[in-house]
Amino acid sequence: MPTQPLIYWFRQDLRLTDSAALSAAAQTGREIIPCYILDDKSPGQWRMGNASRWWLRHSLAALSEGIAALGGNLVIRKGETEKELHALAHKHNARAVYCSRCYEPWAAELENKLRKSLGTENVELLSFPGDLLFEPEQVTTRSGTPFQVFTPFWKYCLSLPAPQKPPPQKKPLKFARIRENTKNALKNLDPPTKPERMSQWRTLWQPGEEGAQNHLLRFLERGITDYTEGRDHPARDCVSRLSPHLRFGEISPRKLFHTLLNQRNNRPELKEHTDKFLSQLGWREFSRHLLCRFPHLPEKPFKKSFEKFPWRENSGLFEAWKRGQTGYPVVDAGMRELWETGYMHNRVRMITASFLTKHLLIPWQSGEKWFWDTLVDADLANNAFGWQWVAGCGADAAPYFRIFNPALQGGKFDEDGAYVRRRIPEIAALEDKYLSEPLSAPAGALKAAGIEPGATYPAPVVDHRKARTAALAAYDAVKSRP
Ligand code: FAD
Repeated sequence: MPTQPLIYWFRQDLRLTDSAALSAAAQTGREIIPCYILDDKSPGQWRMGNASRWWLRHSLAALSEGIAALGGNLVIRKGETEKELHALAHKHNARAVYCSRCYEPWAAELENKLRKSLGTENVELLSFPGDLLFEPEQVTTRSGTPFQVFTPFWKYCLSLPAPQKPPPQKKPLKFARIRENTKNALKNLDPPTKPERMSQWRTLWQPGEEGAQNHLLRFLERGITDYTEGRDHPARDCVSRLSPHLRFGEISPRKLFHTLLNQRNNRPELKEHTDKFLSQLGWREFSRHLLCRFPHLPEKPFKKSFEKFPWRENSGLFEAWKRGQTGYPVVDAGMRELWETGYMHNRVRMITASFLTKHLLIPWQSGEKWFWDTLVDADLANNAFGWQWVAGCGADAAPYFRIFNPALQGGKFDEDGAYVRRRIPEIAALEDKYLSEPLSAPAGALKAAGIEPGATYPAPVVDHRKARTAALAAYDAVKSRP
């Protein structure tokens, strides 16, 4: 009977089921010391933002309850991963650290460093496939280069053997009984003062494995039946909102993939919708594979010509955008949704990002950082990829000259104004037809709705037509470059 315990290092896999790494750890028959380390140094400028920290805190609480129910204690540390893992291994005389692979450049680098440094103390680091469907090394073009266009990428992925189903856990998880004050450690993760806007978040979100499962079931009952069309309408309940659960590994993409394949088999009338959802998982996969191959994606434009793009810094306009005070209702509703809930619907992410980079000509990296701090699902690959895609400088990106008209987008995707009314009460009384462009309403209609342009709700911070012309002129400066 093996006596030395092993350490299970939780990273972006905060769950107790459906985990290749945890199954392998259980398989050894050894006692497991489960730990999580909040390391703000190794990620550099990409350390977790505030909204993600809120999620993490609650997700760890759920995980530690699950571990306690199995007789163990989750060890939570704040500090440098290398130092903390060495100390834990030393204290408990552990000879192995098990973990799931992470694909962010800094995380991959950390893993390599740890493998060497733990090795010098005869502690083995074993990592297992992480939160991808296909490992990046598996997916290359015939000439061995990375795919840079989504459609062939996803087609190739789907031609590979399907990702393996979650491995059955043959042996039970045997957590070590160690003395550890997890409650205090969790409290330590709380910010000194809790931001007011987060006080209601527990009513919106249920971080943890059970919350992920509940969200998935709800989506399979409702959203999936109209996903293809409905996913573009932010007021409809058609998207899964699984992104923060995926980000923290409370559910795996493999599990989602197989669940959706089952749905497709059992409910063939939903094929169109299940395929669309699977292709969204494909975009997630694509962004991660790209980040592995192009580690500068979060900082530098994928298309080199954009390095010379004449962006403009403007703190006043940036502030108006962040606070949802641009005078364009769909943009403002999106930015307020983000601030109030830690989430923003995908269609609105595209509209708000387009507005920042094209109407205001503010660098995409500024918007990326704001999203990073305020999204509960902030994800290095998806966020960088999404911003570059919208700004026109990314892989397989939307062409720069495709400039959304925010008023038309509002009218098209929020046709009855339900989304805007929910977030901007000060214009809620306006008739539907004026809601996406309040200043187009006659003075009488504005008065009747209690709106005083510039006082109760801002006039547009830029004129759409002029902004469009300026954006196209700026684009001329880079489009002839390679
Ligand atoms: P669903 O429609 O239910 O999709 C299911 C899952 O598929 C999502 O949870 C996500 O993992 C994946 N997915 C869906 N759309 C995309 C996409 N366009 N690109 C990559 N993966 C996708 N997603 C993040 O998870 N974190 C981010 O930080 C992030 N930042 C973004 C920034 C911008 C500017 C843009 C345009 C998009 C960003 N996205 C990001 C992608 C997308 O908006 C979200 O994944 C999606 O809105 C999450 O909501 P959902 O889970 O309800 O999506």
